[in-house]
Amino acid sequence: MSLLEAKKLSAFYSGSIALSEVDFLVNEGSVIALMGRNGMGKTTLIHCVCGIISEKSGLIKFNSVNIHDLIDFQIAKLGIGLVPEGRRIFSNLTVHENLLVSAKKGEWNQKKIYDLFPRLLDRKYQLGNSLSGGEQQMLSIGRALMTNPKLLILDEATEGLSPLIQKEIWNVLATLKKSGLSIIIVDKSLEKLSTLADHFYFLVKGKIAWSGKYDQLNDKLIKSHLLI
Ligand code: ATP
Repeated sequence: MSLLEAKKLSAFYSGSIALSEVDFLVNEGSVIALMGRNGMGKTTLIHCVCGIISEKSGLIKFNSVNIHDLIDFQIAKLGIGLVPEGRRIFSNLTVHENLLVSAKKGEWNQKKIYDLFPRLLDRKYQLGNSLSGGEQQMLSIGRALMTNPKLLILDEATEGLSPLIQKEIWNVLATLKKSGLSIIIVDKSLEKLSTLADHFYFLVKGKIAWSGKYDQLNDKLIKSHLLI
């Protein structure tokens, strides 16, 4: 069953087009990889879905609700949890407080987040700005999970993180997939996404240049749409 559906979705910055007639589908329980070189429109697409960009046209439905004209906090309330590019954790709040501020009733609570990321339990009373980049990313994921989302979106899941932390994040994403959570992942690692993602979308200059399953991919497609 479809959870998120965008049809002919276009987005604009001060009138100039950044996303052009994108069709995009996330089925319940599936993991979607959104890939493309820098500046191709991945964040723009995510920001459209999350109600951060208002200058847009087309259709976006989430859980059968038309969300086209809703704004960010209304969409978050419907069950979309965002792990934004750059993490955006509250730097002057502790780990504990960062998790508390987004808490909504549901299966995810602080204990489960600390079970998922034991490192965060060690840092429970530390301020956000004293955490390493990897710990901030764990906290950002934890904070999104505390909203008990139906759909989790990660914009740059592992960008700039050490190999060890990246491995931990990928393991957590595999655990979340197993739990049945629907996830959209923006990341550059085709290798990691090959085992995790059920479906891929490649964006080139604001358009879907290719979409399909990993085993339908070939070197030519990778070279022309992803490699720099
Ligand atoms: P990256 O991997 O670098 O984050 P991306 O694929 O997420 O890139 P977007 O950030 O969505 O790409 O950018 C798509 C296009 O929109 C780019 O040409 C970018 O310069 C432009 N753009 C993004 N944000 C703005 C903005 N706030 N104002 C004007 N143009 C913008």
